[in-house]
Amino acid sequence: MKGFIHSIESCGTVDGPGIRYVIFFQGCPMRCLYCHNPDTWEPRTGKTMSVDEVLDGFYSNLPFYRSGGVTVTGGEPMMQMEFLTELFRNLKKHDIHTCVDTSGIMFNPNNEISMKQLDQLLSLTDLILLDIKHMDDRRHKVLTGHSNERVLDFARYLDERQIPVWIRHVIVPGITFYKEYLQELGRFMAELGNIKALDVLPYHSMGRSKYESMGYDYPLKDTKEPSKEDAEAARTVILSAYKAAKEAPG
Ligand code: SF4
Repeated sequence: MKGFIHSIESCGTVDGPGIRYVIFFQGCPMRCLYCHNPDTWEPRTGKTMSVDEVLDGFYSNLPFYRSGGVTVTGGEPMMQMEFLTELFRNLKKHDIHTCVDTSGIMFNPNNEISMKQLDQLLSLTDLILLDIKHMDDRRHKVLTGHSNERVLDFARYLDERQIPVWIRHVIVPGITFYKEYLQELGRFMAELGNIKALDVLPYHSMGRSKYESMGYDYPLKDTKEPSKEDAEAARTVILSAYKAAKEAPG
């Protein structure tokens, strides 16, 4: 079986615990306005690789990853479910820590086959990094082109299955950086019992040159990048709402 791979980074330090071998999958159904990897959007392009080819650089440096493991990101790695499952099956034979960075958009509870595949993948997954892009459905559609319904349902499903999750949230002035939406995210997280961490990331325009070289208009050209302090303040708002909801009676 072959997968479509955009690229591989051999020394990731932010995509899961320890030092990570990070595999960028090709293809994503979302079109987030702040995406800095538009070159991963197009499915069935990139490099065609087998599981052994993808993991060659990992196994040949195994001692280096002793405290970490492998993270798949993209793009949307869950678009290539069979290949991803095959990849994780290989890693689990060697007891390697596995992590999926996903938008959750592929979750489809109405499709039995897709749910079986998901359960198989989750049985081989140690951690999910779940990007919640926006709590307001209408604004989520503007930001990504899709409803957030599946994303939030996916978060609930991961809770049912007790899969550890780190939530990721990007703050963008004029889009997500509003107290009410941040508080809503905190309250939503409080409904779940499997959240292990929260990463709040300031939007940055590093992907801008890619848009230009691909001939796309850069959608956030008038948006100012928030500072690290802004991200820290947003994180405090989310966590205060989370704490208040956890402590609320009933
Ligand atoms: S989900 Fe990720 S890869 Fe896909 S468009 Fe959004 S930011 Fe880009």
